[in-house]
Amino acid sequence: MTGSSRKVSVICPYCGAGCRLNLIVENGKTTSIEYDPDHPVSLGALCPKGISAVELINHPERLTFPVIRKPNGTIRRISWDEALKFIAEKLRQIRSDFGADAVGFLASAKASNEENYLFQKLARLFGSPHVDHCARLCHAPSIVALSRAFGSGAMTNPIADLENSRCILIIGSNFSENHPVVSRWVWNAKDRGAFIIAVDPRKTPTTEIAHLHLMIKPGTDGILLNAIMAQILREGLANYDFIASRTEGFENLKAKLQKIDVTKAAEQVGVPAGDIVIAARKYAASSASAIIYCMGITQHRNGTAYAASCANLALLCGQIGRPGTGLFPLRGQNNVQGASDMGALAEFLPGYVRADDSEKRRIIAKQWGCDDLPSGGLSVTEIINAILDNKIKALFVMGENPIVSDPSASETEKALSKLDILVVQDPFMTETAGFAHIVLPAAMWAEKSGSYTNTERRIQWSPKALDPPGEAKPDLWIIGNLGKLLGLWETIPQPQDVLREINRVVPFYGGVTPERIETSREGLIWPCLNEHHEGTPILYSEKFHRENGRALFTVPDGDFEDLKSHEQFALITGRVVVHYNSGSFTRRLPSLMRYSSKLEVTLHPYDASKLDVKDGNIVLVKTSSGTVEAVAKISSSVRQGSVFMPFHFPEANKLTTRDLDPIARIPSFKDAQCQLIKKEQ
Ligand code: SF4
Repeated sequence: MTGSSRKVSVICPYCGAGCRLNLIVENGKTTSIEYDPDHPVSLGALCPKGISAVELINHPERLTFPVIRKPNGTIRRISWDEALKFIAEKLRQIRSDFGADAVGFLASAKASNEENYLFQKLARLFGSPHVDHCARLCHAPSIVALSRAFGSGAMTNPIADLENSRCILIIGSNFSENHPVVSRWVWNAKDRGAFIIAVDPRKTPTTEIAHLHLMIKPGTDGILLNAIMAQILREGLANYDFIASRTEGFENLKAKLQKIDVTKAAEQVGVPAGDIVIAARKYAASSASAIIYCMGITQHRNGTAYAASCANLALLCGQIGRPGTGLFPLRGQNNVQGASDMGALAEFLPGYVRADDSEKRRIIAKQWGCDDLPSGGLSVTEIINAILDNKIKALFVMGENPIVSDPSASETEKALSKLDILVVQDPFMTETAGFAHIVLPAAMWAEKSGSYTNTERRIQWSPKALDPPGEAKPDLWIIGNLGKLLGLWETIPQPQDVLREINRVVPFYGGVTPERIETSREGLIWPCLNEHHEGTPILYSEKFHRENGRALFTVPDGDFEDLKSHEQFALITGRVVVHYNSGSFTRRLPSLMRYSSKLEVTLHPYDASKLDVKDGNIVLVKTSSGTVEAVAKISSSVRQGSVFMPFHFPEANKLTTRDLDPIARIPSFKDAQCQLIKKEQ
């Protein structure tokens, strides 16, 4: 390293694994990266997305000054002063004409804890309850279901602890592509003799690891989980000591499970009954079993009930609260856990204080210098619906791209076109920014300091490595200045100031002080209650976080039904290894695009021959929401009767519907059905 070059350890901007990487900075520019072999999750490994970080930060399409869109559609450069004054004035006007709840705010799972905290504080002090972010689109059901069951909605054990498992049940997660560094720990467990079960309607690099792959019909995860539990009960494999000493509500679940016919359930889910029996025995009987799940569980109209079933299974067998056990709901973005912890969700204030709990809400209001705060906020999808219904007139979007990430994109486009004002702050001109009245250039993660909380609750500091390009500014600077102009506070805080406030307001971040976290290479795992507390890698070893310390079995009303397809195919959407979420970063990078540059639809060889479709043909994919073109990819990695599409391209969510899980309000992305029509070539 030359005299002018520096090495700065930052957090990867992509997935919730939260790997560290060392950026090499020379003369104010990043030139390369180095691996960090000491990082507790990655041990120096990075996936293709992490490796492309330098290409991303030096990208020529970065936004470098604020712009305003004129009524004729052209855009004009404006100063920060002009932009922020325009926004503040417009928001005040809308509040005075229609009320504060005519303004919606979308926070960002890519932004730091401090930025999300200040963003939701701005929304609520302004008077609007409508603040939400993309956790709604991935793990809102986990937050709701696991909070009810255990008293806390997060992953129970650290990722590296998976190597201590003797049995791992993977359901609805393709972590080998989505959170690639998790694979190492599952392979380690397998090498040490663990039995690996994968439940997925597709063959993926993750199911390749498994001894047993249950290739179920799409959407039947809940039926399968209940059948596994019914078999465990029938064989007397439940952990009755654990149930008696640490849980409540078991009798309700038992009554439900006793009615289940495992053979019939096997037919419904489309796997041999014998495989369900093996899964039940292996999971229940091992000395330490873990469950890894992801959006294959949550993105359904029964997503909350499916996540609750994962919790029930762990409780039934006492597979929680010890090394190698627990639940691993793998979070998507690098700070989706932190953004949720910070209260960037409609129903939760910071620290998961329910916004409809007036007593606790007023305690936070008092800490913010007011008497009360609004409640009854709308979720991401409901905000779009409210715009269509003329109830929301202004939307402020920090670093999200709802046109690509939300269901039924044509409805989202229609809604954004109706707004009196749409403000987007982002490092790039995204599809959503293309609709904005004002676009503010945001700094990227390595151009600012802040803390990020990964999927295992590990809070890590990521320091500023270099200056943002042109006039781009950190999100905290933008929110701080806007809040000051709106009269919500008097000074623009630094990240450390906001973290100190978080220490006071969010008890389980109480000991995560700037002084400790800025100098810690491994970070701290919450709950970390005070400055002497070492953090809590494994939750619930002695008691659960519910008031009486016991976990609760939750039993959903009614039975899970297998989806009767009204169309030709079940449409599964998901991720591929070289792209991330809405693709607003990865679709710009040549090194990643050369592996996946266009929308493909994967279909089974039998279905392809019936439709006379060959590899590479263009097909029309049609649902009740829209029709798009995609390139056919023929593979037996999908079941007959189902197709797969990655959702990183703008077309995919033109096909999904806006139906919501009624409890967690997540869209049922994975319940869509479609027709395929061969296009004349
Ligand atoms: S596994 Fe996730 S955090 Fe690690 S390098 Fe890849 S995208 Fe980044």
